[in-house]
Amino acid sequence: MKIAEEVKDAGRIGIGGHIRPDGDCVGACMALYLYLRKVFPEKTVELFLEQPSEVFHCIKDIERIRTDVMKGGSCEEDFDVFIALDTAADRLGAAKPLFDRAGRTINIDHHISNKGCGTVNYIDPHASSTSELVFRVIEEEKLDEEIAKAIYIGIIHDTGVFRYSNTSPETLAIASRLVAFGFDFSEVIEKTFYEKTYVQTLLLGRALLESILIMDGKCMVSGIEKKTLDFYHADAKDLEGIVSQLNQTRDVECTIFMYQTGVLEYKVSLRSKGKVDVSRIAVYFGGGGHMRAAGCTMNGTFYDVVNNLTLHIERQLKKAGVE
Ligand code: 5GP
Ligand code: MN
Repeated sequence: MKIAEEVKDAGRIGIGGHIRPDGDCVGACMALYLYLRKVFPEKTVELFLEQPSEVFHCIKDIERIRTDVMKGGSCEEDFDVFIALDTAADRLGAAKPLFDRAGRTINIDHHISNKGCGTVNYIDPHASSTSELVFRVIEEEKLDEEIAKAIYIGIIHDTGVFRYSNTSPETLAIASRLVAFGFDFSEVIEKTFYEKTYVQTLLLGRALLESILIMDGKCMVSGIEKKTLDFYHADAKDLEGIVSQLNQTRDVECTIFMYQTGVLEYKVSLRSKGKVDVSRIAVYFGGGGHMRAAGCTMNGTFYDVVNNLTLHIERQLKKAGVE
């Protein structure tokens, strides 16, 4: 797919990503937004995303995102083309009506759980990130330092800085072409991926200390209650990275991390080292994701959620021959 070709007849182009946008979602959306505005200055291009974490404020024009609409503002606008990135339409949040009303829709994603929801779909579950797919659909000669940086940020976030198994030779080849544009990649990695606020460090500490091992040490579980988040004046953005840290524990095959989003409601993050397909489990509970990283929202107490998930994890571990 070449995105410039797909949108050439459209006067008004909308772009949206998933609710609670992560680094890949923000990077992919911003890169495509900057690219389309650069290539088609005569067209209207609008990006609808929930407020990204402030670590992403190093991306050019990020303040132009239409967070107003995402907060439940009215969205009377209509678009000739609406592009959903890093998700199917169901998780576009308040931008979903814009997608539904658009004359033509495009879906670009790398989630194995997404079957494609657009008039045109470009879904590649083997790609490291949606940002890598954005690189593929734009013309490299039209790239500049700012667009390259946004794509790079997306890739490092979904690959854990080129560490996870979704990193391919192509991912690294693309990264090398991106850093050639000259942005300070070392600072980008430090400031957007590794650096934490003090509150984030404290929450990580609590999650680690309060974690438990179940299934004979094969599964690690931890969670943060709403009252803890409130005490620290923190939100979901402050919990990024905790689940991956837990899952680094030796002999652990998979990790459940959850934070409370309401009365008897938890947002669940699942990670696997490869023997358990957590995407399958997340999809079963109405969520989605990748084989080794997935998520869903579940109802019940902390222990209800753990019990419901462990049934599926145990079954898969047994099948994989892990006792
Ligand atoms: P995380 O655990 O970091 O929130 O998410 C891991 C992966 O699963 C990400 O690729 C994310 O987009 C996906 N994911 C997390 N929660 C959900 C969900 O509720 N629904 C779907 N479809 N995907 C999710
Ligand atoms: Mn992604």
